[in-house]
Order: sequence, then structure tokens, then C-alpha cells
Amino acid sequence: MTILSKNSHIKFTIDQATLQGPVTRPSGRIICPECGNDLLFFEVAEEVTLTTSYVQNPDGSFTPQSDDSRILGEVKLFCAECRHDLSRFHNRFVEMLF
Ligand SMILES: [Zn+2]
Repeated sequence: MTILSKNSHIKFTIDQATLQGPVTRPSGRIICPECGNDLLFFEVAEEVTLTTSYVQNPDGSFTPQSDDSRILGEVKLFCAECRHDLSRFHNRFVEMLF
């Protein structure tokens, strides 16, 4: 939790950070500068080739065995609440993906 001080210098510093786009708190959490969302995000991969291997069963049906995806385009990160583009924080997002 961030406690805002009445000290005008500290307030000015926070406003400057907000104007520069997505911000992270000292805890490292990404926060959407548009709506304040720090919980729900989605990632979009462009130009994806998805290859799926199947085996055909005796009755003619197919069962998937494995799939492989190759991303040729850009991968973007968005706020799931207001859809603001947070791609500049995508590297941070990938680092924190467990
Ligand atoms: Zn947002």
C-alpha cells in the first residue's frame, strides 16, 4: 500500500512517474496508468503458426498428440480492464511469469 505524503515534492515525483506510462511499484507489480488495474492482463501474439500432430484411431477419429507454436510477429501486453497497451512492460511480464 502506498501512503501519499502531504510533502509536495513527493507528490510531484509520483505524478511524473504516472505521466510516463505504465509504472511498477517497489514490489515490482505492473500498474495500468489509465485505470490503475494491477491484477488482470492479457498477451497477444501476432502471426502465429500452430502445428498440431494427430493420430488417426481405428474408428476414423483423430486424437491430438502434440502441438508446436511458432510466433513470427510481435507479442504485446494489454490491460484486461481498459485494454491500454502495456507492451513496454512485456519484458518485465516475461521475467515474472512462473
Ligand atoms: Zn487499464
